Amino acid sequence: MKAFKPHLGGLPSYPYQGVEAPIKLDQNESPYDLPAEIKARVVERLAALSYNRYPRLHAEDVRERLSAWLGWPVEGLVLSPGSNLLIQALAQAASRVLDVAPSFPHYAFSARIAATPYQAVPLEEGFALPLKGLLRAMDERPGVLFLANPHAPTGRLFAGEEVACLAERAGETGWLLVIDEAYHQFSGSNHMELARSNPQVALLRTFSKAFSLGGIRAGYLMASPEVARVLQNFVPPFGLPAHTAQVLLAVLEAPAYVEGVVRTLVAERERLYQTLQAHPTWRVYPSQTNFLLIRTPDAAWAYQGLLRWGILVRRQDHYPGLEGCIRVSVGTPEENDRFLQAAFALAEVPHA
Ligand SMILES: *Cc1c(COP(=O)(O)O)cnc(C)c1O
Repeated sequence: MKAFKPHLGGLPSYPYQGVEAPIKLDQNESPYDLPAEIKARVVERLAALSYNRYPRLHAEDVRERLSAWLGWPVEGLVLSPGSNLLIQALAQAASRVLDVAPSFPHYAFSARIAATPYQAVPLEEGFALPLKGLLRAMDERPGVLFLANPHAPTGRLFAGEEVACLAERAGETGWLLVIDEAYHQFSGSNHMELARSNPQVALLRTFSKAFSLGGIRAGYLMASPEVARVLQNFVPPFGLPAHTAQVLLAVLEAPAYVEGVVRTLVAERERLYQTLQAHPTWRVYPSQTNFLLIRTPDAAWAYQGLLRWGILVRRQDHYPGLEGCIRVSVGTPEENDRFLQAAFALAEVPHA
């Protein structure tokens, strides 16, 4: 391993283990596939595509369409195969990375592989934003502050005034505040106006969640033209595959289905939340996303118990402050019924 930079030795792999189960509620995917009419249009487009030709250099065709749909300048858009790649690019470009804890693990992981100095400020009581701690950390040498809002893995939406406070400080100090809006459709929130009025604020978006395109791999950054120009250099030339581009073009012609997905999942999320209030031993936290964080007496026991019912969830108990916690994606109404049935049945089983 002498060929590689010393900091890469002993690096842990990304913390995910694929497990098969009939009811998959572990990755916050949409339980609904892309509508069949749009899929059919994609298939037509793919049949007409010349597979021997490279796609556009920087996905210009999709970025133009996205720009019109969002009302965001095309010079400020960077598209990539998954927003995870943009997180890596930001961590690589950053002088330092600031985060909260617990957080989306890819921020810390990306800083680590890039050997970028990393600091995380713990969330406060009740998963509140540690505003003072973050502002204090921002007094030092500027870098990139990642903030998922709505937040993962707690599902909480931080208040607009608090985020505006961080944005203002970023504007004064030269920090770049990157707001990861992976779940924004499920909260009805968005920070577009904040980003429009402040070039030190950038937004990360993904097609993996509300757009129901986890398998297609596409995400984008909305930023100032200056920030976008730097980040674009980290996405390899011709980096957005031609088939991904065709799916996105078809979806952006008929994006109305997303509203239906969001409406159903938000209603189901609230039904799960309300029903679980009656659970004798589990405590469910309010969520503005398509998943619920649940504190159980024993996460390993809850995970295994649910798996015996054919339901796969994600353990979160390795995070400080999330002892006993599991994370459950909102599924179809039938999947959620089954989950509720299992959750209440497990409460009847004596804990080994
Ligand atoms: C799911 C998720 C993403 C999406 O990553 P992709 O690479 O676009 O699939 C980004 N940020 C957070 C916080 C997420 O939960």
